[in-house]
Amino acid sequence: MAVNAAIDKDCPVCHCEMVLPTAIPACGHKFCFLCLKGVSMAHLGGCPICRGPIDEKIFKKPKQNLNLKMDMPDSPAPSTSNSAEKEVKEEPVDEDVKPDVNALNAALNTASTKMYWLYHGRNRGWWRFDPRVEKDIEEAYNHRTPITEVTICGQAYVIDIAKMTQYPKNNKGAARDVKRVDSNEFDTLDVKGLAGVFAASGGAGSSST
Ligand SMILES: [Zn+2]
Ligand SMILES: [Zn+2]
Repeated sequence: MAVNAAIDKDCPVCHCEMVLPTAIPACGHKFCFLCLKGVSMAHLGGCPICRGPIDEKIFKKPKQNLNLKMDMPDSPAPSTSNSAEKEVKEEPVDEDVKPDVNALNAALNTASTKMYWLYHGRNRGWWRFDPRVEKDIEEAYNHRTPITEVTICGQAYVIDIAKMTQYPKNNKGAARDVKRVDSNEFDTLDVKGLAGVFAASGGAGSSST
């Protein structure tokens, strides 16, 4: 009943602040781009709020005025009632592994330098992962996990950190290269967009052609 100021910014699917807010043209309800794409791909019957139709055209060459180096948006505190259904992260506690000095150093280095994770485009160029997915990959990297899994649009993807490739869990043949870069290297690459959404030209990297 009470007006919740955060509600406008939060995605009704993931209950976090929206990443790449995308409105359904017919009803205007807004979601994260990837959450909406996931709903559409799962054919769950239209808009998650009103069941109105989702025009698939919004997923074809989507373009937004976006900051390619955007930070991760805020997530609600874990204690809010809304987050009851959210993922429960279980830390493996039963492993008796000594901390490795190199891993610690790597973690310390990355704490001071923001690193970006990119995946190769179908033809050329690079895409940045959704910042939330990127954070999970970076954590796995810092823990020296050779292979990790992420969920994008409701699909499981395998990130092979040892080989620096990613592929849909059910299609290893569709592997693409991934890259971990700092801000300087980021600027030297042809980064088309974020999580499948093209950056509108004249955006963040306006000095590149
Ligand atoms: Zn969302
Ligand atoms: Zn709707």
